[in-house]
Amino acid sequence: MSASKMGGQQGLEYYALPAQQAAEILNSDTKKGLTTREVNHRLEKFGKNQLKGKQGKPAWLRFISQFNQALLYILLVAGFIKALLGQWTNAAVIWAVTLINAIIGFVQESKAESAIASLAQSVTTEATIIRNGQKSRIPSSELVPGDIVLFASGDKVPADVRLLNTRNLQVDESALTGESVPVEKSPTTVAPDTPLAERVNMAYAGSFVTFGQGTGIVVSTANTTEIGRISQSLQQQTNLSTPLTRKFHKFSHQLLYIILGLATMTFALGLGQGQSWPAMFEAAVALAVSAIPEGLPAVVTITMAMGVHRMARRHAIIRKLPAVETLGGATVICSDKTGTLTENQMTVQEIYAGGQNFQVTGTGYNPEGRILLAQEVVNLETGSFPTLKACLLAGLLCTDSCLEQKNGNWVVVGDPTEGALIAVAQKAGWNHSHIKELIPRRDAIPFESQLQYMATLHDSHQSIEQTGDSLGEATTGARTIYVKGSVEAITSRCQQMLNAKGQPEPINREFIEHQVEALATQGMRVLTLGKKIVPDHQNSVDHQDIATGLIFLGLQGMIDPPRPEVIAAVRTCKTAGIQVKMITGDHIATAKAIAERIGLEKNGQVQAFEGKQLSKMNHAELTQVVENGVVFARVAPEQKLQLVEALQSQGEIVAMTGDGVNDAPALRQADIGIAMGGSGTDVAREACDMLLTDDNFASIEAAVEEGRTVYQNLRKAIAFILPVNGGESMTILISALIAAPLPILSLQVLWLNMVNSVTMTIPLAFEPKSDQVMKPKPRNPREPLLPAKLFQRIAAVSIFNWILIFGIFQWVYQDTSNINLARTMAIQALVSARIVYLLSISHLGNAIIQKLRGKKAKLSDSRSMAFGILSTVVLQIIFSQWTVMNTLFKTAPLHVNQWLTCLIPALPMIPLALFVNRIDPAE
Ligand code: ADP
Ligand code: MG
Repeated sequence: MSASKMGGQQGLEYYALPAQQAAEILNSDTKKGLTTREVNHRLEKFGKNQLKGKQGKPAWLRFISQFNQALLYILLVAGFIKALLGQWTNAAVIWAVTLINAIIGFVQESKAESAIASLAQSVTTEATIIRNGQKSRIPSSELVPGDIVLFASGDKVPADVRLLNTRNLQVDESALTGESVPVEKSPTTVAPDTPLAERVNMAYAGSFVTFGQGTGIVVSTANTTEIGRISQSLQQQTNLSTPLTRKFHKFSHQLLYIILGLATMTFALGLGQGQSWPAMFEAAVALAVSAIPEGLPAVVTITMAMGVHRMARRHAIIRKLPAVETLGGATVICSDKTGTLTENQMTVQEIYAGGQNFQVTGTGYNPEGRILLAQEVVNLETGSFPTLKACLLAGLLCTDSCLEQKNGNWVVVGDPTEGALIAVAQKAGWNHSHIKELIPRRDAIPFESQLQYMATLHDSHQSIEQTGDSLGEATTGARTIYVKGSVEAITSRCQQMLNAKGQPEPINREFIEHQVEALATQGMRVLTLGKKIVPDHQNSVDHQDIATGLIFLGLQGMIDPPRPEVIAAVRTCKTAGIQVKMITGDHIATAKAIAERIGLEKNGQVQAFEGKQLSKMNHAELTQVVENGVVFARVAPEQKLQLVEALQSQGEIVAMTGDGVNDAPALRQADIGIAMGGSGTDVAREACDMLLTDDNFASIEAAVEEGRTVYQNLRKAIAFILPVNGGESMTILISALIAAPLPILSLQVLWLNMVNSVTMTIPLAFEPKSDQVMKPKPRNPREPLLPAKLFQRIAAVSIFNWILIFGIFQWVYQDTSNINLARTMAIQALVSARIVYLLSISHLGNAIIQKLRGKKAKLSDSRSMAFGILSTVVLQIIFSQWTVMNTLFKTAPLHVNQWLTCLIPALPMIPLALFVNRIDPAE
């Protein structure tokens, strides 16, 4: 085979060729696909199917942009002026500080970015393909040209594909064409000059299947796809900005203006009072430097990154960073029922067929169990239960799933609902694969939540009669369509029902609905089964074929127990002031029963609404209903969007789960859109902010806890850093105004704000979550960065710091006339007071107090805090005892007595930290 033949030619106009010819050029078999050998060849030739986007900003540019902060400009300019004045050491240290600041910022940002990017990438998409004549699922990155791909609704199109067959296939191509209305596809060949948007026989990489199914052959992969060619820049940009960082940005801008104003004022006033201008310049720079919380941005990034990391450990993968923060403020969680609140482990327990109610024993998908009628075991071999048999057979045949034995356990491959139907038919004595062979399937309409039914077309049963199998009715010379789905979807299409003898009678829909209620109020999911006899020349089944004329066969009720951990998680949410609402496609009575079991009631009752009720309401009614209702059943995906919007109009912060094809708009609209890693569609995963790897509601609750912890830790960090800036700037401002010598120099300020602040604050990012974190109500999202109470506290501690620095400095200076010593002691005293303050807001401090009281306390959680404090002490010792530092920072070495003196002013910090608007680490 020539190399050019292998895998065809990239960029050829495959849409203008008949499907068969396209397959020939691509040297592939439309039925069997490629062989493994061929695939390996092509993988080598074409590489992996991954978009290699343009590189993001180069590292050096990202490094330079670290300096692009208003506050850093001041430092750079100050260094420059100092250099002009010939104060080279000074200038060098200032520049060194800005450099260190940029390095820390750069490293932290890159780390956070790559952590988030790698989490996002861990969410790979898969494709269903045919190779070696076998259907299988592989990561989309392993596709090669010539591969045969199968599409179902919800899939992301993994490569550019020439379609071979379609069934109502609709594709959303907005990523390519900007057109958000899905396009109907068909395999028809089109003219060579057809524009991209009208090439109906192509599905392009990056678009989504929104409806129907199809098969196609891959014509190009990776960067040779249309999307790869048009936008090499499609590459994922990780965005590190969140509402909080934006608030922060705004805050630092305001701060900048205030600082500039104050610095200019100090400078002018001082000169007016006749002070020398180099002295005044030092004061103005020191003031500017002191007011800037240089270490804070690094701390914010680290805290966020820690949050992302902790959430991932608890099965919640953050795809968009702002979610970390928004999660902590969530007031409503709207959750799917099946699989998220419940186990998605279905077992049929009740069957209603031919007017009789049967019970089924056994657990899980194990085929051991019996069917009982009025406590008596039903024997299908001997007894005559034609309608029951037909109902079971419909459930067995109308599925895309199968059961397998793994390590002695029976598991479903596919949909658990279908697994339950297969299991019960096996209990009746039928072998799934055997029956599938005997009654071949000709065509199918797979289940779509939107339509709530599935249908399959099968051969007549005559063959079975001939092999002596004891299956129900046989209809010679005809084919049968089996359907299963929700009671509404099926009974509305039925005109007849079978009685106990298997004879058709007119349908009694009310009576059936009554039976459904009886099962659903026990929390069971109810599937309705039906069939239709069609002529034997019918080879396909379409939606119109089953629009009417079906025969109702029966109902199967299956339990799906609530996840036990969900009950506790719901309770935690409630104490935390977070409402939990269930949104489901299932029957209202089923949903309500499950809601009661997991404790979803609000004000003592479970108010439930159906989608069709909601669609009749106006906006005012809807907002009323979304507040009070806790269950929303038979909800269509578009209605999820309405529900989110109605809740948001009430000021709620909404977390919403979704896994279906049409859930994307609701996921985007929600403040936190949550998709399922296990069961969700690619569409939902692409639209979400957060992905649950275990599909479990309890993980949402866990993520909220971590989100709250992040916010608290950030707040603590701000409350910790700012008072030092406040104290320093007050000291400098006042000293300059009264023409007293500066108690602290600009370089020393930089040491405090950078080295000291960062060493002491980073451990706050690692503070463990408190066990009280889910006790308070959600924080108000409109709350300012610094609420009044926190502001007062910062002000009080700032004043304390000012008195401390000013007081110690004056006292030592007057006593010894050694200005370097006086400044050093003022700084060391400030740091010791800082350690006390840090302890008061940390778990470590709490644990120490508990220990002192003789109670049990866990110290192991506070390792990083202890390490931070220890490093601080060591660095401060170096700062004043090492001669190099004495030259650089104009410090002086201290004696033991002087060291001890520096500890005394820390004592009054204890009552201050504990009583002035206390920040309780436990809260
Ligand atoms: P949810 O996942 O919210 O419980 P679905 O949208 O999956 O709801 O299902 C809605 C209804 O569709 C169910 O109540 C059931 O009657 C029906 N249904 C669910 N799964 C299937 C299936 N595989 N085949 C046919 N009908 C189904
Ligand atoms: Mg479902």
